[in-house]
Amino acid sequence: MDKEKIEQAVRLFLEGIGEDPNREGLLGTPDRVARMCSEIYGGLGQDAGQYLHTTFEAKNNELILEKDIDLYSVCEHHLLPFYGKAHIAYIPDGRVAGLSKLARTIVFAKRPQIQEQLTAQTADALMEHLKPKGVMVVIEAEHMCMTMRGVRKPGTKTLTYVCRGVFENNDELINRVLMMVR
Ligand code: ZN
Repeated sequence: MDKEKIEQAVRLFLEGIGEDPNREGLLGTPDRVARMCSEIYGGLGQDAGQYLHTTFEAKNNELILEKDIDLYSVCEHHLLPFYGKAHIAYIPDGRVAGLSKLARTIVFAKRPQIQEQLTAQTADALMEHLKPKGVMVVIEAEHMCMTMRGVRKPGTKTLTYVCRGVFENNDELINRVLMMVR
């Protein structure tokens, strides 16, 4: 990440909105923002596969659900946060991932994102690296770009889900997962 460039951009941005980047309260802001960027955009160029290398044999597992995974991301249209919960369900094909590793596949959140794409990227990565019979990823999130500006509807949640493999067009399975995450 180009920390220098981010700092320049923040100074320009502050000028642009009519602020004085040299006033005391803002002097350290470009540096703070640049350091924060490496954390909240640190998932750029990363793939969920790195967390799914280690799998364990498990027979006769019907459905595994990791629910209420904390999720923080940044909307790519407004660069404002959206945050909420992710739920990952899958039906393994003989091998399972460590549960803590499953939660870390939300690495795609650490980049400018849209919720729909984040949901699909997570599901596709699980299909690719874990090779289960099927995956369903559900994300519910509140978008600051809807809460702070525009329609201003605090508490409004956007729900997305993506199905792959045996979950596709399987209403019974889909409803079972949706009931479990309620
Ligand atoms: Zn937005």
